[in-house]
Amino acid sequence: MRTTDPGDAARVELLLAELRLPAVKQVWATLAAQADKEGWPAGRFLAALAEHEIAERSRRRLERHLAEARLPPGKTLDTFDFEAVPVVSKAQVMALAAGDAWLNNGANLLLFGPPGGGKSHLAAALGFALVENGWRVLFTRTTDLVQRLQIARRELALEAAIAKLDKYHLLILDDLAYVTKDQAETSVLFELISARYERRSLLITANQPFGEWGKIFPDQAMTVAVVDRLVHHATIFEMNVESYRRRAALERKRGRGRPPIHATITANARIASPEMFPEAEMLPHLICSRPMFIGGAKDEADQHGGA
Ligand code: ADP
Ligand code: MG
Repeated sequence: MRTTDPGDAARVELLLAELRLPAVKQVWATLAAQADKEGWPAGRFLAALAEHEIAERSRRRLERHLAEARLPPGKTLDTFDFEAVPVVSKAQVMALAAGDAWLNNGANLLLFGPPGGGKSHLAAALGFALVENGWRVLFTRTTDLVQRLQIARRELALEAAIAKLDKYHLLILDDLAYVTKDQAETSVLFELISARYERRSLLITANQPFGEWGKIFPDQAMTVAVVDRLVHHATIFEMNVESYRRRAALERKRGRGRPPIHATITANARIASPEMFPEAEMLPHLICSRPMFIGGAKDEADQHGGA
C-alpha cells in the first residue's frame, strides 16, 4: 500500500490554504489515508473531496444567511399552531415558504391583526423557512429600519442604503403601525416601498389595516400611493384572532378544549371587508380590479382586469 509522502502532505496543506479550500484542507489527509487503504481510483478520491467542499460551502452560506436575517429565535413553522388561526391555511403558508411564486415577482405578503395573534411569529417562521430554501431575508422592526434610513438620508446616502437592501429577496417589516409620522419623518418608508415595487418583496405586519395608515405617512396622497403599491401584487392575511398567550393562559385555567376563535376573512385572503379598507373611495380600482393573488393567480387577475 502506498501512503502520502510527508513532503507532499506539507505541500498539499500549503496549496489548499492558498486556494482557500478550508473544508478540503480539513479532511483530505483522512480521506487520502482511506483511499490508500481501500485502493480508491484517483477520480473517486477527488470527487469525494470536491463534494465535501461543496457541502461545507452551502452549510456556511446557510449559516451566514441565517445570521444576517436577524430572525427572532425559536419562531418556526413547526412551532406555529395553525389551528389557532383558521384563516391562515397551512398549505398556503407552505407554498409561500418555497418562495418562487412570489419572491421572483417581487410580490408582497401583508399580515394584519391585533397584538398577540401570531403575526410576528408567522413572519419570522416564514423568513426562517425561506432562508433554509436558499433565499436571503432581513427581519427588522419597522421603527429600527426607519431610523437607519433617516440617518442615511441625513448623510445623503438614502438611495445607496435602499439599494443595499436589494440583496434581500424579502424584507420583513415588523409592526408597521408602530411608526407614526410625528415620531419620525416616514417618507423614507415611502422611498423604500417604491424602490422595491415589483422587484423585491416585502412582508409587513401591522396591528391596523390600511385605515390607520394615514397616521404613518406624511400625507394622504403618499398613503394612497403606498397602499396601492403594496397591495398590487399581494397576499393578505387578516389574523383577527384573540391573543395567543391570553388564550393559552385561559386554556390552562379551563384545562380542556380550545377557546373560541373568530376570524373575519376568507381563506383566499382578498380585501373583503370595507371596514378594513376605508380608503375604498379613494382607491376604487383596488377593490374592483386588483384582487389579491396567491401564487400564480396574479397574471390572470391582471389580464382579466380583476375579480
Ligand atoms: P403579534 O406579532 O401578532 O403581536 P406574536 O407573533 O408576537 O403576535 O405572538 C405572541 C406570542 O404568542 C409569541 O410568543 C408567539 O410565538 C405566540 N403565538 C402566537 N400565535 C401563535 C400560534 N398560532 N402558534 C404558536 N405560537 C403562537
Ligand atoms: Mg408582533
